Amino acid sequence: MYRECLLAVASRSAVRRFVLRHAALLGVDRFVGGSSVAAAVAVARRLNRQGVGATFDVLGEDVRDPEAAERVRETYLALLDAAAAAGVDAHVSVKPSAVGAALSAATAYEHLERIVARAQARDTYVRLDMEHSALTDVTLELFRALDDRFPGRVGTVLQAYLHRTPADLERLSDRPRRFRIVKGAYREPPTVALRRRRDIADAFWRLATGALAAGHHVAVATHDVALRERVLAWIRLRDCPRDRYEWQTLYGVGYAELLRLAWAGEPCRIYVPFGEDWYGYVVRRLAERPENLALVLRAWVRG
Ligand SMILES: Cc1cc2nc3c(=O)[nH]c(=O)nc-3n(C[C@H](O)[C@H](O)[C@H](O)COP(=O)(O)OP(=O)(O)OC[C@H]3O[C@@H](n4cnc5c(N)ncnc54)[C@H](O)[C@@H]3O)c2cc1C
Repeated sequence: MYRECLLAVASRSAVRRFVLRHAALLGVDRFVGGSSVAAAVAVARRLNRQGVGATFDVLGEDVRDPEAAERVRETYLALLDAAAAAGVDAHVSVKPSAVGAALSAATAYEHLERIVARAQARDTYVRLDMEHSALTDVTLELFRALDDRFPGRVGTVLQAYLHRTPADLERLSDRPRRFRIVKGAYREPPTVALRRRRDIADAFWRLATGALAAGHHVAVATHDVALRERVLAWIRLRDCPRDRYEWQTLYGVGYAELLRLAWAGEPCRIYVPFGEDWYGYVVRRLAERPENLALVLRAWVRG
């Protein structure tokens, strides 16, 4: 309920203006790994020293200006070059709407094709993030087309809260693919998505273990320690090799728990968003935890 309300309020333009004026209060720095390619690569280097990989996200979504979509693509290309030159363990995560999926699927495909080709040349890969449910079909179509053209160089995300996701997994299980499993971060109606936290956690577990059993590479992306333990127990019981899965968290959340896994030899990666267009991303992070908003409001009242 809290999450629904916050996401609804945040979509109002007056709230957006207020929030953009008070970026520091929101603790944007906590969730965002800097504003430039160089800053993002420096973050990855620091994480790598702790045995943790990175996946970079160029902040921005719902891009409707063709030139802005081109700028996003160029930033990804520069990022892949810079990460390869620095020798860091990193791949990239792209929101289809950041490269023009709202304009047309063909536009997004053109940009993504160039990004994935560069990732292949740099011996890494690209993950297509999953956004709100109006973009699920186009994202899965882009994923399938790119995965056919560049096998193994592209992955996508399955959201446990969507009613449709088990069927999507089945449809995409014709051969091994790369999936990140998440609970789901957007505001969706009950006809489209589960609401109860317990139901979503159970759906996540079924999806993660089902995808592993079907032979996919699975990125288990959650800060929910109990849920992670449930998936880990399944992995240990089946003796699932470590090159078939990894643990992922968001920059600024749950780092200590992830480090414990990394130091135990488990494959771990952190999602590092960077850039100036942070509004939608940071609002979703605030919506995930009431305490985050309470901290912001307390700091604002204190002035
Ligand atoms: C690597 C990664 C990539 C993701 N990619 C996508 C994507 O492509 N599409 C999508 O819809 N969603 C994505 N998400 C977000 C995801 O859907 C959830 O909204 C988010 O991870 C919170 O759910 P949770 O599984 O951590 O569990 P929750 O039950 O929300 O959280 C468990 C515990 O983690 C801590 N925690 C969680 N979130 C925060 C926070 N923001 N601040 C502080 N503490 C917090 C709290 O202690 C909380 O009790 C991604 C998440 C991760 C980790």
